Amino acid sequence: MNNGHLIDTMIQQYILDRSSLDVVSTAHIASCAHCRQKAASYKLLFSEIENIAPPAFDFDLAKMVMAQIPKQRKRNLWSVVLISIVAAILIGVPIYFFQEYFQDMIAGISVIVLSLIGIIILMILVFQILDEYRKYDKQISSLDF
Ligand SMILES: [Zn+2]
Repeated sequence: MNNGHLIDTMIQQYILDRSSLDVVSTAHIASCAHCRQKAASYKLLFSEIENIAPPAFDFDLAKMVMAQIPKQRKRNLWSVVLISIVAAILIGVPIYFFQEYFQDMIAGISVIVLSLIGIIILMILVFQILDEYRKYDKQISSLDF
């Protein structure tokens, strides 16, 4: 109530959905000329808003927006394969030639240290995967309209 009269949101509620307003407020509108006049004004306003034609563009909005979105470059699959092969060679050749040293080095490390290294590698992998998933989820949610 506002100075004994209904507030605007209650009058709007009365116009839009009369059954949702409580009995006391409905009775007040029925007996109060001031609130009835406000209700009539809101009713006229709402009917005018409903009569307004929805906005229409005289151009193809979707085409204009799509033209401004940068096109995603396609990754060249061959470059990924080539980089993978070069990386495998750069890692594999020294391991092949220094195989005995690596075996001696790994045999010299205790099981606890090796398991700690394994756990650390596993944790890094888990965090990387979670980070990638979070990025993916953020991108998908930004595309959702
Ligand atoms: Zn009133």
